Amino acid sequence: MNNKQLDSRLEQVRMQYNLYKKRPFDINMSRGIPSRKQLELSSALLNKLELPDWMSEDEQDIRNYGGLLGIREARKLFGDILKTSIDETLVGGNSSLQLMYAVLVMHMFTGDNKWNKETVVKFLCPSPGYDRHWAMLERLGIEMIPVELTGEGPDMELVEKIVSQDSSIKGIFCIPTYSNPTGETYSDEVVERLAQMHTAAEDFLIMWDNAYAVHHLNNEHEEAQSILEACKKAGVPNRPYMFVSTSKITFPGAGVAAVGASEKNILRLAEELSTQIISFDKLNQKRHVLFLKDSNTIQALMEQHAKILKPKFDWIQSIFKAYFTEDREKFISWTNPNGGYFVHLTTMDGCAAEIVDRMGEIGIQLTPANATYPYGINPLDNSIRLAPSFIELDKLEVALEALCTCIELVTLEKYGE
Ligand code: PLP
Repeated sequence: MNNKQLDSRLEQVRMQYNLYKKRPFDINMSRGIPSRKQLELSSALLNKLELPDWMSEDEQDIRNYGGLLGIREARKLFGDILKTSIDETLVGGNSSLQLMYAVLVMHMFTGDNKWNKETVVKFLCPSPGYDRHWAMLERLGIEMIPVELTGEGPDMELVEKIVSQDSSIKGIFCIPTYSNPTGETYSDEVVERLAQMHTAAEDFLIMWDNAYAVHHLNNEHEEAQSILEACKKAGVPNRPYMFVSTSKITFPGAGVAAVGASEKNILRLAEELSTQIISFDKLNQKRHVLFLKDSNTIQALMEQHAKILKPKFDWIQSIFKAYFTEDREKFISWTNPNGGYFVHLTTMDGCAAEIVDRMGEIGIQLTPANATYPYGINPLDNSIRLAPSFIELDKLEVALEALCTCIELVTLEKYGE
């Protein structure tokens, strides 16, 4: 564009933005939560407890205390998702994040090699990643080292180099399938290298948060290899803890979460948990077993979710493809995931925070820009996470149109001169 064209385009975009400002929206697309329609898919779950008696397969009265490892049939069901045996599976309460935090606290404060004996404890943080992982690490005073994601997992050259040299690096957080927010799935090579790499810290941990393990959006299913299997082959079976939950299968906040790990780690974790809780909600575990049944039934339910979610993801692709052409082509790039809950936008450097602020001023809340980086610090200021699941298509459409305007406005103001 020459200067004149640029001025006139900028004027048009400002006019459009000011119109939005006069009639602000009330739209929140900041968190990746299921819509009401998705929640209704699991309504039948609530009526599932018509039982001949209250006994689990391993003879526990599911109404009573006890059975901290979870009821046998739930351990089997979650073991099918985690690809673990019953002994390698612990079924907990309604939150996988809580189980992750328990694992970190256990390593920080208990055992012969407890981390808090050392002056500095560090973790590798593949970024952009999940802000609640970073919040846990920050809370425990664990120093975070960002590592770039490549489209098929973290930059392994860098990971291997630094973990082999620095014994204060105690672990890494991974979201191996349809990663939040980039949507990428770890390649077999990355999984194997994570298992095989030499770590200066003997007790190095892989926190394998498989929150989107079965959350496909179309027929092209992606699935990261089991890190536990890879670690067993590499002779380090105690390196990984794998996490899943039904938060985005049935009900967030009223689902069931599980951990998969070596039998030794499962028993150690159960002992740690026993100082916090007598037993988890076994009624809910049983309800989930009766409702979800097996992998095929879970798959069929996830297809119903995908039917609701996919049009929203497709809409994002169509609107951006139509808007960011020719002169505007370089303003952003965006992901087109095969599963998960997010689309990640990479803006031109220095634009993301301003775009999210401008959206906020017209009543559309997005996830804070760069929140996906440890401490919320991304020197390039170029990362925006879109979470389209909760809002209806008509609202998504107006939000996306406004977002296109804000991206163009901020980019032209910054780079147009
Ligand atoms: N892990 C990831 C990567 C997530 O994106 C989310 C929710 O958005 C969670 C965990 C939350 O898990 P839960 O509800 O089981 O605590």
